[in-house]
Amino acid sequence: MSDLKVKVTDLNKSFGDNHVLKGINFEVKNNEVVVLIGPSGSGKSTLLRCLNRLEDPTSGSIEIDGVDISQPKVDIDQARENIGMVFQHFNLFNNLTVGENITLAPVQLGKMDKETAEKTAQKLLKTVGLSDKYHATPASLSGGQKQRVAIARALAMNPDIMLFDEPTSALDPEMVGDVLEVMKKLAKDGMTMVVVTHEMGFAKEVADRVIFMDDGIVMEEGKPQEMFAAPKNERTKAFLDKVI
Ligand code: ADP
Ligand code: MG
Repeated sequence: MSDLKVKVTDLNKSFGDNHVLKGINFEVKNNEVVVLIGPSGSGKSTLLRCLNRLEDPTSGSIEIDGVDISQPKVDIDQARENIGMVFQHFNLFNNLTVGENITLAPVQLGKMDKETAEKTAQKLLKTVGLSDKYHATPASLSGGQKQRVAIARALAMNPDIMLFDEPTSALDPEMVGDVLEVMKKLAKDGMTMVVVTHEMGFAKEVADRVIFMDDGIVMEEGKPQEMFAAPKNERTKAFLDKVI
């Protein structure tokens, strides 16, 4: 099997006249952690959303494990089962308990029976440091706790890649560390991850590779230490000067 988890080739995405992704080429290897940085509006979320077809690409191909998921005939529900996504605003089901949030998809999609799903949910809550919250409602949780539940929920489908879109941007500063810790642990356990974040400390410590996007283009990529110490591109430098 190839060592490549994701291979994006000449990806273009337009919303009407707005050409948002302009020929993106991008690869992620198995077990690699890629951090995606760039100014607001540069197309980071759109790229992540194309990776699990929350957006349909205008042109180009997106291969996950060698299967081009941009083809209309692909069973996208099945492809999505292997791709976990975590959003800035958690997107938990507020009318369900924490446990129900986590067991819903695996049970409904027939991936696990109810009992197995419940055991898995308990185990995942332990992993994210929320063992005692199985019966809690999302409304009773802090933002950081909600985000950790959202991570547990994504993991319940046993995905082999996790996409994070600014998972800590909506959190109070004191909550950020706990969420980053969970993500670090995942990375250490070998999860393949693509993370959009402004947390440069996380990027430095955890990322195998950083990609700087600007105006729908991959402007620069490299190891975090190298890129942060000596960005090659003027735009990368200007961006890093603002965020570091
Ligand atoms: P980033 O995540 O880097 O801030 P986005 O991918 O969210 O950037 O947005 C890139 C551009 O695409 C912006 O100009 C935004 O307005 C536009 N865009 C994103 N999603 C949509 C959408 N669903 N409909 C129309 N325009 C969109
Ligand atoms: Mg975004």
